[in-house]
Amino acid sequence: MNEKERKEIEDHIEKDREEHERDFFDLSKIKKCPRCGGEFDEGYIVINASTWSENRFGWVYAGLKKPLTKPGVLNPSQFPALRCRKCHFVTFDYTSEVERGTVKE
Ligand SMILES: [Zn+2]
Repeated sequence: MNEKERKEIEDHIEKDREEHERDFFDLSKIKKCPRCGGEFDEGYIVINASTWSENRFGWVYAGLKKPLTKPGVLNPSQFPALRCRKCHFVTFDYTSEVERGTVKE
């Protein structure tokens, strides 16, 4: 590995570290799983497209289904997320989709 390649790798690692800190700035304030008190792992939820429905059969009622993430099979969205391996609870932050205008709160 030459000096240029080493610098590129170091820059990439530094950029990843900065993005991780930014992505988890708010989520990292949540220290324990609210359901079981277990430890959270930090990671990303990768989603092609998703919809929020207030009930299981939301598809029956026009207007109850709302996009939660932008459809993008080729460019799936990645959301900072917390996962509890103890009770299998996951939560993620979709602020980026609100900022993008996909979600109208
Ligand atoms: Zn838990």
